[in-house]
Amino acid sequence: MPIVVQKYGGSSVADPDKIRNVAQRIVKSHAKGNQVVVVISAMGDTTDDLIELAHKINDRPDNREMDVLLSTGEIVSSALLTMALHKLGYQAISLNGPQAGILTDAAHSKAKILKIESDRIVKELNAGKIVIVAGFQGITQDADMTTLGRGGSDTTAVALAISLKAQVCEKLTDVDGIYTADPRICPEARKIKEIAYDEMLELTSSGNKVLHIRAVELAGHYNMPILVVSSFNDSPGTLIHGGDSMDSMEVHNKVRGIAHDIDVAKVTLTGIPNQPGVAAAIFEPLTKAGISVDTIVQNAFKDNITDLTFTVSRGDLKKANDVINSIAKNIKAKEVVTDAKLAKVSIVGIGMQNTPGYASKMFSALSKAGINIQLITTSEIRITCIIEETRVKEAVLALHRAFELEKD
Ligand code: ADP
Ligand code: ASP
Ligand code: MG
Repeated sequence: MPIVVQKYGGSSVADPDKIRNVAQRIVKSHAKGNQVVVVISAMGDTTDDLIELAHKINDRPDNREMDVLLSTGEIVSSALLTMALHKLGYQAISLNGPQAGILTDAAHSKAKILKIESDRIVKELNAGKIVIVAGFQGITQDADMTTLGRGGSDTTAVALAISLKAQVCEKLTDVDGIYTADPRICPEARKIKEIAYDEMLELTSSGNKVLHIRAVELAGHYNMPILVVSSFNDSPGTLIHGGDSMDSMEVHNKVRGIAHDIDVAKVTLTGIPNQPGVAAAIFEPLTKAGISVDTIVQNAFKDNITDLTFTVSRGDLKKANDVINSIAKNIKAKEVVTDAKLAKVSIVGIGMQNTPGYASKMFSALSKAGINIQLITTSEIRITCIIEETRVKEAVLALHRAFELEKD
């Protein structure tokens, strides 16, 4: 029998009615003759609430204990969903991460899956049961609970789909697919029928949060298709896959989508002397402090002096500022300036490769909207502009129109 892995996000199981609705959808897939494995997120805002609760007890909670705490959210929803399936007359069993054989490294709060020992899941499937797995968690070699990072249930689902050789990994969520821009801020956004892993990866790393980035990476690496559909209606969703398709042929030479991210802060060091080792002196201590740097821009040297700007997530700005101030004197920087209120907008599309004109069209659309570009970065299939946070919605709308993404 074909195996299907379905993943339901927190908004899909936010209350008892929604849990019952999810149970009905699972039953539909089961009735088609599939063996169904379901990965479930914690109900609604449970994870945020648990984090807040922890900080009321201790403002610097221990990472290991945080993982013990946060993993409970998914355990609760998995048990409740299983009870809902029992109520409908189906055989089902909930398994937490360790019971599902999800073995991870010991990097608490951002653990990586090392291996999945799927014997237990297979045994339960073969006994005719629907298997409900608590997402976002696993266990270390030393039997400690771990979590995979915020949004990590998507990664659990894709990893399970790969290890069980499922036909497809379905992500059921509160939107009915991937749109050309976030439909919450761009009403003209259009649903994309299918999209290549590479494009989805660029959209995800540029701020499209429909999927956890590691889920897209894994799916691409092992060629596991992901179908993004609504958990509330039957509208056809978006297939993320590796092969060529009619749809991508038709949209060849087109921007596929626009992503935005308001979690951007920048640090600028001015008046740095032109000496070997300066960049290493800046970025090594940032790496040691566990800060991941996104965009880096260094101006051309004038009189052997330059400015260097880099961006980090807002949550890391304070730490980054401390690190940079501690070394600024050593590297003879004149000044350290920070700005926490930035955003990035990106256009993404495989069709942009080797085709000139996309960058200038993007810059001119932003300029016509009166939006100032602070920094620019590119990859082969993406162009990103860093702008002021307050202009991000206008920027997305202007770019959506400029590249005519509302047209089918
Ligand atoms: P889940 O909890 O099911 O994992 P998320 O809330 O993480 O779901 O992701 C779904 C949300 O992603 C949608 O509600 C939507 O507002 C947002 N989103 C951002 N960009 C896009 C896009 N381009 N297409 C569709 N949804 C998007
Ligand atoms: N519950 C976790 C979170 O809110 C994991 C997930 O939902 O994917 O981040
Ligand atoms: Mg999510």
